[in-house]
Amino acid sequence: MRVAIVTVGDELLSGDIENTNATWLCARLSDRGVDVGRVTTIPDDVSTIARVVNEYHAEYDAVIVTGGLGPTHDDVTMEGVAAAFGRSLSEDPTVIEWLEREGGYSAADLTDGTTHLPTDARMIPNEEGVAPGAIVENTYVLPGVPTEMKAMFDRIEREFNGVPKHTEIVTADEPESALIDRLVELRDRFDVTVGSYPGGTVRVKITAGSRETAEEAAAWLADRVQRPEGSDERQ
Ligand code: ATP
Ligand code: MG
Repeated sequence: MRVAIVTVGDELLSGDIENTNATWLCARLSDRGVDVGRVTTIPDDVSTIARVVNEYHAEYDAVIVTGGLGPTHDDVTMEGVAAAFGRSLSEDPTVIEWLEREGGYSAADLTDGTTHLPTDARMIPNEEGVAPGAIVENTYVLPGVPTEMKAMFDRIEREFNGVPKHTEIVTADEPESALIDRLVELRDRFDVTVGSYPGGTVRVKITAGSRETAEEAAAWLADRVQRPEGSDERQ
């Protein structure tokens, strides 16, 4: 399964807020063996949201959009997603019912727009906040507030499935450039993907479809690199 993540918010693009939602979602999806093909950050702008979601929903198995769900004038994500699918926003009776039953709100208390979803969307309840999420075809719309986003993703994560991969880390006490030949040979000998992350020592991340392959490749490399002082484990 291949997924695109779209994080919406002017505050992300100005550098006021760190995009922790994207990193968190990438890690959770990777753990499930789902390939994340794109992370795109865009402003709170209806036509940009509509254009990007329209493109990605055709290209990817699923799209996750976060941010800009609240009822304030600058939160336009639902409008953009609705437009991407050629739908309008309308009051959703399931949202009103859920907010009355679980949230103790009456429809009259809620800011205009809170109960509106794209027509024929499935609501995702917001157990940590108010504004609900929505599923429109293969597009999942989640809040920007990290606690709300995480709780909502927990409810839907079973819909994201791939082939889990196995990872081993080998740490080498050599300059990254000196390792190049051995990393090339590692890739030739084993059916693995290899990432190297320098910073003091070099952490080499070996990923394979089976545990045996990942472990064999890690053992092969560990025998051929300078190990950091005191390390007899591969780590
Ligand atoms: P609300 O209903 O509270 O307005 P919302 O879904 O509209 O929620 P935003 O208005 O986009 O969400 O963002 C609310 C807060 O969530 C921001 O001030 C920011 O602190 C945080 N936030 C938004 N997007 C992200 C992100 N990608 N990573 C980390 N934090 C984020
Ligand atoms: Mg908001």
